[in-house]
Amino acid sequence: MEENYLEILNPPQREAVLKTEGPTMIIAGAGSGKTRVLTYRIAHLLKEKNVDPFSILSLTFTNKAAKEMRHRIEELVGTDARNLWMGTFHSVFSRILRSEADKLGYPSHFTIYDSDDSKSLIKNIVKYYGLDDKLYKPNVVLNRISSAKNRLVSWQEYTNNPIYLADDTENGKPEMGKIYKEYVKRCFKADAMDFDDLLFNTNVLFRDHVDVLNKYQQRFKYVMVDEFQDTNISQYLITKKLAAVRRNICVVGDDAQSIYAFRGADIQNILNFEKDYPELNIIKLEQNYRSSKTIVGAANSIIGKNKNQLRKSVWTDNDEGSLIDLIKATTDNEEGKLVASAIFESKNQDHYHNSDFAILYRTNSQSRALEEALRRNNIKYKIVGGLSFYQRKEIKDILGYVRFSVNQNDEQALRRIINTPKRGIGAASVEKLIVAAAENNADLWTALENATQILGGRAASAVNDFVTMIKSFKLTVAKKDAFEAASHIAKNSGLLKELYDDKTIEGRNRYENVQELLNGIKEFVDNPESEDKSMASFLQEIALLTDADNDKDEDKDYVTLMTIHSSKGLEFKNVFVVGMEEDLFPSQMMISSRQDLEEERRLFYVAITRAEKKLYMSYALTRYRFGRLKTCEPSRFLEEIDKDFLKMNLKFSAPSSPAGDYAKNFIGNTTQPVRKPVNQAVVHKPSADFKPSNTSKLAEGDKVEHPKFGFGKVTKIEIQGANKKAHITFEKAGEKTLLLSFAKLRIL
Ligand code: ATP
Ligand code: MG
Repeated sequence: MEENYLEILNPPQREAVLKTEGPTMIIAGAGSGKTRVLTYRIAHLLKEKNVDPFSILSLTFTNKAAKEMRHRIEELVGTDARNLWMGTFHSVFSRILRSEADKLGYPSHFTIYDSDDSKSLIKNIVKYYGLDDKLYKPNVVLNRISSAKNRLVSWQEYTNNPIYLADDTENGKPEMGKIYKEYVKRCFKADAMDFDDLLFNTNVLFRDHVDVLNKYQQRFKYVMVDEFQDTNISQYLITKKLAAVRRNICVVGDDAQSIYAFRGADIQNILNFEKDYPELNIIKLEQNYRSSKTIVGAANSIIGKNKNQLRKSVWTDNDEGSLIDLIKATTDNEEGKLVASAIFESKNQDHYHNSDFAILYRTNSQSRALEEALRRNNIKYKIVGGLSFYQRKEIKDILGYVRFSVNQNDEQALRRIINTPKRGIGAASVEKLIVAAAENNADLWTALENATQILGGRAASAVNDFVTMIKSFKLTVAKKDAFEAASHIAKNSGLLKELYDDKTIEGRNRYENVQELLNGIKEFVDNPESEDKSMASFLQEIALLTDADNDKDEDKDYVTLMTIHSSKGLEFKNVFVVGMEEDLFPSQMMISSRQDLEEERRLFYVAITRAEKKLYMSYALTRYRFGRLKTCEPSRFLEEIDKDFLKMNLKFSAPSSPAGDYAKNFIGNTTQPVRKPVNQAVVHKPSADFKPSNTSKLAEGDKVEHPKFGFGKVTKIEIQGANKKAHITFEKAGEKTLLLSFAKLRIL
């Protein structure tokens, strides 16, 4: 091995790499090397234990993470790494489902419906049953179905068990079970699986076909799972079944970073793991290698507020680092400007590249103001996630043709393309064809082929032409590689011409996007790593791209903008967490209980722990949300950070502030007390009846109590702009300067 990896690791990390047999669980804080341990463990199995790469299964949270891990292992052990089974749950098990599809009554070329397809199918079903579409919103229905599937509740169980009906009736949606049933039926008829089916059906496959399960149990001698805290029960059961014979399973995760409970992830899996494997080897990693002491300290002070957690201590040997900059802006646009100029300034001063910065936000819609400011300052940026390339209309249209040429039962693809470009086949005609197919127990394609009997007239002849065209595409797809097939389809479907004829700027953009798609397909075909160069194989690859995988730029030097959810597992030198406002973060929509608040807090912990060197947080006093200007309050999470780690920006920038003025906007906390070592904060047990007082009348000489610093006396009040600061000498904690809008003080 070109690198002696065992020497680089600390003792518990080394133990985790060396102990390859039997069940192992590593639950450890952010940045403690969990992912690195998994990587080295696989390298070790390949190189030192001569394990066949085909017998190692490693599950990651994004495809990008899998790619990076594979790349790293290749550096360590060579091209053997290419043969590892590595990817997201969805991509690995869709591959297995394809080769076993016949056991479930599916063809191996089944289509994967994305959430748009699923929602539009639900919309059709709601209409078909004449239900109220305001009540049965596609989003709501899909979530309900999805959560049932992720708990392995089939439609049969759902409709038979009165609990679900009672629950749905109470929510005013008693027909949910009926929709679930029809949805499953239609997907099956369309030879399609949605995302949740990929896991649900894998469970069914392993439950009903012991021989198949046996085969994979023998194949996968080692099973590994990263980000274990975010697996749902359906995923958990798959790994449990696969590892049942050899029991060589290693899971790594951090309960403090569990952020997908709203999608069915279950921390309970961590607790169950101990029960399922009594011989379990538990390894703790406590040293953080990623972040400065300040960042680790701030993260610890936040997560300590959660009641529901496995206590662990995280520390670091890294430098103290700079304090967290807190940026206060009057508006969301000004927030964008201040962030852009902070990046500009830091690049100049510390010689950072764009790629050393990430801006993280709670919701995608926050990116607009930031993008505008970055563009103005000529700072290259890239939004990861959001409306991905493959979700654009023109791309979906072309792919719709491609999908339908591969699978003629794909109802959602058919609906998309049958009249795009316009060829005189209206929605009513399509509906008639679908109903006719259902009534005659025939598939959709047969109905299309018999359009003359079903529709008659002009519509029928248009459908006949369409059928002839698709037949020729079908042949092309079967005979040619993905690139040749896609080029043929783009040209002969009439789509490319329609876009070419549109000379508006948007039209040009769309045309270029289609060219870009074709480039991407060419790249796929030319890549020596793609074994199967068919269109079906390309479709499979792109159907499973996650938000965080949307990253195919050649030039890598850009600032990354993404939601905190997408940032999991990643690290950046400098991180901005923007929009630190009540109702936005924590999100108003998400917090209806203490548990939800704790999930938001874990999300905040994930955000903070992405940073290596420096962390910035910002909030605006007003923000446009849902089309209205709203005044905002700083997030409660800001108050929860130990003030020792914060530096305040106490001055507003002038609205015309040019880039580069960032430093002037910072006054900083000049009377910063002597820093305490991380993890040894003064602990004061507040009086039982502790209630913060209104501090607007606080004056010099007043005696106060602070929940953490204890008792003290105000020595000076300082007013700066809209902010009031108090200098307080605490009996135990010493001199502190507190911002009164934040500090929780009780006047005695
Ligand atoms: P997260 O919880 O965010 O997923 P993690 O526990 O998976 O974090 P890694 O990403 O594996 O942590 O490691 C964090 C950083 O620390 C990486 O840059 C990694 O290379 C580095 N690192 C881990 N262990 C060591 C070590 N023993 N010596 C030096 N650097 C290390
Ligand atoms: Mg990790």
